[in-house]
Amino acid sequence: MTAKRDLQGAIGQFENGMRLVGSALMKLDAGETTTQPWRLPVGNDEHPSSGWYVYTRHDLTGRRNSHINNYAHTGIDLNGDWRNPETGEFRGNVDIGQPVFAVADGEIVSVGFSDRFRGGVVLKVDHFGVPLYVRYWHIGFPAGHNWFTVGETVEVGQQLGAIDEYPNGYAHLHFDMAWQPFKAHWWFTKHKEIEWANPVYILKTHCQPLEVDAMVEKSN
Ligand SMILES: [Zn+2]
Repeated sequence: MTAKRDLQGAIGQFENGMRLVGSALMKLDAGETTTQPWRLPVGNDEHPSSGWYVYTRHDLTGRRNSHINNYAHTGIDLNGDWRNPETGEFRGNVDIGQPVFAVADGEIVSVGFSDRFRGGVVLKVDHFGVPLYVRYWHIGFPAGHNWFTVGETVEVGQQLGAIDEYPNGYAHLHFDMAWQPFKAHWWFTKHKEIEWANPVYILKTHCQPLEVDAMVEKSN
């Protein structure tokens, strides 16, 4: 009788497990049909993704930025990869004024500005049912639009701003992601409590992975 009870217990557990698997699969199916493709944060018809490269990379997933003195960096820096037709300058500041875009539908959850780092916004987006906080930094106001306010919703592809001058070096878009909402003091990095995500990995999940790889390869 004990053996039979054990067997019935095991069957019960198995059925429970199958129910959990079934509901997880249903959620996955629902997610797949409702998750829109994202777009890259930079790039348009004039300068598509092939005209951009990732210079500074995320260093919290085992990859230090050894080519720039091992300094800690969250996220990635995106730079223009073309020559300025007026000045002849290659790379450098060619991307000043280039638009930056919402990678996905989302909500503006933080806005910041400083003379040193210029403007920034944080966009809360959905990553397969999990909230993800995406920060754009060193940008200026979008033309014809006042600075975004917290709580405003934006659509994938909507312009969030334009790459601004960067007083400490060449202009670029700093782009990073965290799993928790940004707090005001997070604007200045190296806060250990922040759980950063690797934007290269996330972008490859939602956009064309080969395009993302090509932008990263150019910095090697
Ligand atoms: Zn950066």
